[in-house]
Amino acid sequence: MSLKELEEKYFFKTYKRLNLEIEKGEGCYLITKSGIRYLDLFGGLAVNSLGYNNSRVNQAIKNQIEKYIHLSNLFLQTPQIELAELVNKYSSPHGEFIKIFLSNSGTEAMEGSLKLARKWGKTNSKSEIISFHGSFHGRTLGALSITGREKYRNGYEPFLQGTSFCNYNDCSELFSKVNKTTLAIVIEFIQGESGINEANADFVETITHLRNKFGFLLIADEIQSGIGRTGKFFAFEHMKIVPDIVVMAKPLGGGLPLGAFLGNEKVANVFTYGTHGTTFGGNPVACAAGIETIKEIMECGIIDNAIASGIYLKEKLISLKAKYPGLIRDVRGRGMMLGIELQTDCEKIMNEMLELKVLVNCTNKNVIRLLPPLILSFNEVDFVIEQFDTCFKNFLK
Ligand code: PLP
Repeated sequence: MSLKELEEKYFFKTYKRLNLEIEKGEGCYLITKSGIRYLDLFGGLAVNSLGYNNSRVNQAIKNQIEKYIHLSNLFLQTPQIELAELVNKYSSPHGEFIKIFLSNSGTEAMEGSLKLARKWGKTNSKSEIISFHGSFHGRTLGALSITGREKYRNGYEPFLQGTSFCNYNDCSELFSKVNKTTLAIVIEFIQGESGINEANADFVETITHLRNKFGFLLIADEIQSGIGRTGKFFAFEHMKIVPDIVVMAKPLGGGLPLGAFLGNEKVANVFTYGTHGTTFGGNPVACAAGIETIKEIMECGIIDNAIASGIYLKEKLISLKAKYPGLIRDVRGRGMMLGIELQTDCEKIMNEMLELKVLVNCTNKNVIRLLPPLILSFNEVDFVIEQFDTCFKNFLK
């Protein structure tokens, strides 16, 4: 039986997988067992910020496994503390995020932040959580309760009480929904799953105004956009706003499972011993990998590359839009988080790009989402653009 047949035999049908057998990864490339190289713009869905086989991260993992792979969270653990210090350094230029909790994944970090908000709300008579249509916050039932995409929610009802949705960038709707019972607004300042949509300045201003008036918590989901992907440590830094709670994951563990949420002074003392926890969260090997990943991104020029290559890639894509106006409707996003909205479903384009040895992801049916490693070079951008050009030409034939 082929790998594909075996997968179909043993696994629940949750993932529509590519029929590629990957042998290894190198930089921005994935190499199949038969030696074919693919330029990977999925980037492990925003996990592989340093690409594949980064020697610094690999070495950190090797060093840590020689010491201990797991200790329970009853122990003080140097890698956890070092990671916390580093996250604090880059996330809190003004010292705002004074506490952290480490989880295993994005959705668990989101669950934890909802629990933190709820407990905070108990003493502040606030209970209602507002999130946005088009958002994605995870697959567990709490995170799904605030995820604004029917395709992920259908059949999993009932959801958490006190959750509701507002249209993204709709100031008047938000005005009408927020009141003194509002506990939290949960937002991706750049929505990934819905096709790379950014909160506009009016909307951010409205959130700020309502927050000042009603005092709810602002929770930023930076799971996909965080740690340099958009050219800043967090995407919200592009806007004039600082949340109370920030949720992180994806690249945080350098490819190993790790999530986190951070909180400011307002929520710093809400949890008391034993009121939240996890067995595996903050795994020391994942933390060791995460430390080197963050240092590499923030201290070794990788974030600057994400900015420069991101601008270059976006400019080239905009030129393609001018060349293929009947096919490309919009190009948007920042840094290494870009979307190409097509006039058509993207499945065929995705498959054609696969033939051309470039892996691209499709979201929201007609948006090609690019989440390349932050190390993507100008030469690699040139290659991507050449292949898109060929692909679009072939598509229109
Ligand atoms: N939030 C956002 C913005 C995401 O992109 C994701 C994952 O794609 C999640 C939450 C959930 O993270 P995880 O898959 O690690 O549970």
